[in-house]
Amino acid sequence: MEFKILRVNMATKECRFEEIPAQYFGLGGRGLTSTIIASEVEPTCSPLGPHNKLVFAPGLLGGTNCANSNRISVGCKSPMTGGIKEANSGGQPGGHLAQMGITALVVEDIAEDGSWYQLELTKDNAKLVPSTVNGLNNYDAVAKLTEQYGKDCSYISIGRAGEFKLTAASIAFTDRELRPARHAGRGGVGAVMGSKGLKAIIVNPEGGANHPLKNPDAFKESAKRFAKALMDHPVCGQGLPTYGTAVLINILHEAGGLPTHNFKTGRFDGHDAVSGETMNQITKERGGEGVVSHGCMTGCIMRCSGIFPDKKGKAVGKWPEYETLWAFGPNSGIDDLDMIARYDKICDDVGVDTIDVGCALALLMDAGVLKFGDAEGALQLMEEISKGSAIGRVLGCGTAVTGKVYGLRRVPVVKGQSLPAYDPRAVKGQGVTYATTPMGADHTAGYAVTANILNVGGTVDPLGKNGQIELSRNLQVATAAVDTTGLCLFVAFAVLDNPDALVAIVEMLNAKYGTSLVLDDVTSLGKKVLETEIDFNRRAGLTEAADRLPDYFSDEKFAPHNVKFDITPEDLDEVLKW
Ligand code: SF4
Repeated sequence: MEFKILRVNMATKECRFEEIPAQYFGLGGRGLTSTIIASEVEPTCSPLGPHNKLVFAPGLLGGTNCANSNRISVGCKSPMTGGIKEANSGGQPGGHLAQMGITALVVEDIAEDGSWYQLELTKDNAKLVPSTVNGLNNYDAVAKLTEQYGKDCSYISIGRAGEFKLTAASIAFTDRELRPARHAGRGGVGAVMGSKGLKAIIVNPEGGANHPLKNPDAFKESAKRFAKALMDHPVCGQGLPTYGTAVLINILHEAGGLPTHNFKTGRFDGHDAVSGETMNQITKERGGEGVVSHGCMTGCIMRCSGIFPDKKGKAVGKWPEYETLWAFGPNSGIDDLDMIARYDKICDDVGVDTIDVGCALALLMDAGVLKFGDAEGALQLMEEISKGSAIGRVLGCGTAVTGKVYGLRRVPVVKGQSLPAYDPRAVKGQGVTYATTPMGADHTAGYAVTANILNVGGTVDPLGKNGQIELSRNLQVATAAVDTTGLCLFVAFAVLDNPDALVAIVEMLNAKYGTSLVLDDVTSLGKKVLETEIDFNRRAGLTEAADRLPDYFSDEKFAPHNVKFDITPEDLDEVLKW
């Protein structure tokens, strides 16, 4: 099987397969997208201009039978943070690209103003053709593309938000049922795709196959042990398939770390109405097209994604993730699961990040544009994004822009990206990650909720200072490595509690590539990826001064525990040093 990099130039329309340069050997997923961006993109360039690049890369374990290994990373310079960005997604295209031997797809330069293209991609051919779906949101676009290209393809697309180049625009990836419901959500990667004039990518996997393995028997044995470790773990094997990530709503409420009414308090009276337990119950009671335990991509065995049915049993969209439920629910004072499922569907359709836009909605409530809890008002505002009205564009640009337009002081962002669903004062390890990850505030970059709240991989008091720096550092290093393999990050619960799961991952890499990696090599890989990303950010002008939370988190006490964020700047500056 031949492995290659595909370069697509939007200005010349040239599509060129090339051999993988030596400097990119041994990399995949986030490790590869970040290395390509850091090597080939001038850090001070305009994120929406011709010198930025957009890179798609399956992970090192993509194209195998390893459980949950077919995610795809998207990298670029972010129009939201001004720094390097990696956002990853489930769905089918990651596995398809891997099976086609495409180690990375690099989109370069920009098309003529106002023109839109779609990329037709087969195993050996790539061709840019005028888009047949510009002006459409993701669901209509994918329906039309499916009519044109068939159900065996998978699709990557942007909605209207990407066409408008809004800074919270996402890129959609179709799931197994061809719903454009899986997204590389954060940091405005959809705006970069829009800036290039690329509306959609049609991935035809015909002729593709799983990768050859240097040692198939060893791979099979390790993959089996890894899958068992996932299924034996209470979060991976039971919590996620039963309740989705929404299992966290009641847990964070109990812990007093569920940001409510734009990060004012840590508990929400209506928590139960928007919890995973309620979502599970409603889905089962309504039946119809509702589904509990759905996998977003082939090979997923944790199946955290359900299908949410309306009152008549018709599918609204995927189960909203915990962060989506939080952003539109507790943080916006809305306790109506049906309405939140509709906002989530709008976000998937128009193509925006639910965290940044949901957080921006809460800011509009704080600004008095509508009241906290006004579910109908929120729906009307959400519908403005697709129309391209002024308020819709503000909302679709996310939290930082909304805060500026309305002159607000309490704007929960780091490096211009909104804080997710764990208050940094009551879950301090998470606050350390928000401040210091090169990505801008991002819960997935070093998920300290594990030891702070869930007692997974040890226990660190969420309200205290002790141990938070080390916790965040270790998790950020491990996450950078996991994001390079293409594994779904949720495997981390099992990996943190069961040392053999990590051993199995290393064994699978060795059995696939014929390498002799040891556990320390995984740590070295994670560090190398982070060093590459930090170096890009420094060259882009993001100094350590950008590694801070907004000061009101250090000034205001947060109920119910009446805590402030009290990790010092000096301590934050030590997080990503080794
Ligand atoms: S666990 Fe959830 S997010 Fe991860 S691959 Fe499966 S369905 Fe997708």
